[in-house]
Amino acid sequence: MTDLASFPLDFPAFHPGHVWLVGAGPGDPGLLTLLALHALRSADVVVYDALVDPRIVALARPGAALEHAGKRGGKPSPSQPDISRRLVELAREGKRVLRLKGGDPFVFGRGAEEAEVLVEAGVLFRVVPGITAGVGGLAYAGIPATARDANSAIAFVTGHDADGAVPDTLDWPALARSVPVLVVYMALTHLDEIARRLIAAGRRPDEPAALLSKATTPAQKVVVAPLAAIAEAARGVEPPAMLVVGDVVTYRDRLDWLAAQGELS
Ligand code: SAH
Repeated sequence: MTDLASFPLDFPAFHPGHVWLVGAGPGDPGLLTLLALHALRSADVVVYDALVDPRIVALARPGAALEHAGKRGGKPSPSQPDISRRLVELAREGKRVLRLKGGDPFVFGRGAEEAEVLVEAGVLFRVVPGITAGVGGLAYAGIPATARDANSAIAFVTGHDADGAVPDTLDWPALARSVPVLVVYMALTHLDEIARRLIAAGRRPDEPAALLSKATTPAQKVVVAPLAAIAEAARGVEPPAMLVVGDVVTYRDRLDWLAAQGELS
């Protein structure tokens, strides 16, 4: 284990009774920030989501309590208010509480909701950003989020709302018309319908699309197909997965650096 004390950096103190909302990145432990590692080495208790790679949870200080906030052993997953309440409870016990989330805590991670509960409860907290899957996952697939000849804008979109349906609050025609690259988180359940909506809203059926599954982990899988065929091509692919739509996907033909090194992708 790297001894963080040997880094010539001043890390902020993790005070007892404080909560740190920390992004764990998309999977590869090497994509953790130094602050995240510092938090893992200091925390008394780590409350982590299902999305967080076990190799990252394993970096916690020996003796730290580990609490899984997701589904486990067939038990129903704790509700969001339950998790927020638990964070407050642990902080009030005087623990250094690390709330560890996949990717970035403020990108489709419900970090804002937890932070608001902490504010209401008067619990002090820090936010440690992480590499969101929409950036790190694309990079590991050899797909640039922006490229000068392809796009000057990108949108991060969620493929389902709080009820699990395709979000009707999204103006799909406006998105389709004005944003050349769309990265759809939580896209797997409604992949068919999302592709259909985008095509109905004017995207080309033959526009390049990719489905990235378990990106940045050893089980990473990337499926590339025209938008009209992506749902069929990606059948059986496992979550977590995200959809990328746009000409940047074609860069993968040349920039798939993982494959070039003989690593699976
Ligand atoms: N806060 C996270 C996103 C949480 S929402 C972040 O910033 O990345 C969960 C969605 O994130 C998943 O449904 C999937 O679309 C995406 N995701 C997270 N990790 C991923 C990974 N390793 N590979 C592909 N998609 C991932």
